[in-house]
Formats: sequence, structure tokens, C-alpha cells
Amino acid sequence: MHLPPHLLKLITALKGLPGVGEKTAERFAFQILKWPKERLQTLASTLSAVPDELRHCSVCGCLIGNTPCGLCDLSQRDPTQLAIVASDKDVFVLDGTGTFRGIYHVLGGLLSPIDGKGTEGLRLEQLRRRIAELGVKEVILALDSTLDGDATALFLKRELESLDVTLSRLAFGLPLGSSFDYVDAGTLSRALSGRSRA
Ligand SMILES: [Zn+2]
Repeated sequence: MHLPPHLLKLITALKGLPGVGEKTAERFAFQILKWPKERLQTLASTLSAVPDELRHCSVCGCLIGNTPCGLCDLSQRDPTQLAIVASDKDVFVLDGTGTFRGIYHVLGGLLSPIDGKGTEGLRLEQLRRRIAELGVKEVILALDSTLDGDATALFLKRELESLDVTLSRLAFGLPLGSSFDYVDAGTLSRALSGRSRA
């Protein structure tokens, strides 16, 4: 028997989420079918409001709401320390540790020599400009401890070595291949405190 077309549509939409395959999407879809109409409407309106309610700060690239970016508020943050992170999601993990009071720069991805991904789409021009304009003294490469993270750190080291800044990298006490997604706040906090010169 064929699934009704709208159910198939729902399953296809759910499969767009990371780590959700056919079977999981089906399970989610059948669970959603049990929800009362109001709950479905709340979910639908929350999803449709995403483009209006969430945006990226044009300066640091962090994800923010409809208020000015708190992470770029220099009365609260120390602009002499700048942490480079790959994605907007990493900022929440790192800032959640409460260890770092500097500013952030979201790069927008990592280089991937194996997949042939180069510097396209990375916010490098803005990075150089911010370092110069803000009087940054230390740049912390807060990147995953993976091959792509290492390649990106090496690239950034070369890119920024002509600037008058100290470069450091998070001292991950982690196995190779660790990504921010799997690091707990305590480990990340220690990695930040024990960072070493890149
Ligand atoms: Zn910002």
C-alpha cells in the first residue's frame, strides 16, 4: 500500500535534517501525525518565522535575533582577543563555556583538501579588515581537531602571519577527529585556557 502523498512530502522534508534517514523520518512523521492541530500550527509558524526572526550579524557572522549583536558590543567584549570559528553553531558552544570574553569571527566553513573545497565562501577579507581595525592582539584558532580543521589552521597561520598578532590554537586534549559537536563545555573550557601558540 502506498503512503498518502502528503505523508510522503512530510517524510521527504524531515529527511533534510542531518542524520535523519528514511526510517527515522518515517518514525518522526508518524509521531507528528499524533500531535493536536494547535501543536502542529505552533511548529509551522515557528518554522515560517525563521527568516524574519533570525539573521547573521554582518560584522562577526554570528547568529542573532532582531536585536543588535551582543557579541560585537565592545563595552562588554574584549576586542584584543578574536576567536575564529568555522560555523555560527560553534560560537554558542564556545561562548557557553564562559571562559572567553573576546570577540568572534565566523569563517563560514573549513578548507577541505580531500573534497577539493578551497577558500570560496570563507569570510577572509572581513577577517583581515577586522583584525586591523579593532587592534586585535591575539587570534585564537578555535577549529575542529580534524584534517579539515588542521588544514584551515595552517592556511590561516600563513594568511595572518604578516599581521602583528599572536596566533594560538585550542589545546584540545582530544582524539584526532574531534569536532565541536561532540565536545563538552568542560573540555572546551580547558582547551581554551590551555591554548598554545599556533
Ligand atoms: Zn556580531
